[in-house]
Amino acid sequence: MSMTKSETLSAETIVDFLAEIFERRGGEEYLGEPVTMAEHMLQGAHFAEQAGEPEIIIVATLLHDIGHFTSEFGTFSMDDVEDRHHEEAGAQVLEPFFPTLVTDCVRYHVAAKRYLCAARPEYLGKLSEASIHSLNLQGGPMNDGEVLAFELNQNCPAIIRVRTYDDAGKEAGLTTQPFSYYAPMVQRIVDAHCSGMAGQGRSA
Ligand code: FE
Repeated sequence: MSMTKSETLSAETIVDFLAEIFERRGGEEYLGEPVTMAEHMLQGAHFAEQAGEPEIIIVATLLHDIGHFTSEFGTFSMDDVEDRHHEEAGAQVLEPFFPTLVTDCVRYHVAAKRYLCAARPEYLGKLSEASIHSLNLQGGPMNDGEVLAFELNQNCPAIIRVRTYDDAGKEAGLTTQPFSYYAPMVQRIVDAHCSGMAGQGRSA
């Protein structure tokens, strides 16, 4: 019986593991955008930090597209890693180590685009061409019922803010801090979450 990679990860190793994914796979292209996957996520984190966001939002933005690399976690087949539901896959691999605020921002970043297209008509005009193309594959703007349901999530405002940094992180040539700059922040979020869980029957 072999253990999957995600079963061997811990609060002590997850940040190095994420750093290694950024390092080794970050250069992959972000389909249709003028930035690589790592540049995209690091730029998003940069814009979140510049806006004065708390660390938890910066970290959520930094990791929002980690679902493109879930094959690294050993829990998904190669067929799952392409753009099909990368947001759900990303939330699932982060769930053992990060609070719901982070995983909701990851899980619903595509929904947030569909929400904003419906609720803020000017938003659609600001989307990149590739993002409009994927919007159509993702179900187009939300209908009224979906909008109401989305607004019921208490993390809705945070999810929307992460989405705006996601949209901003597509600037060719913008230099950002490396992953290592954010690593201590990521670790603080993991530690706060996992130490809180320790008292609730989960081994530390
Ligand atoms: Fe993104």
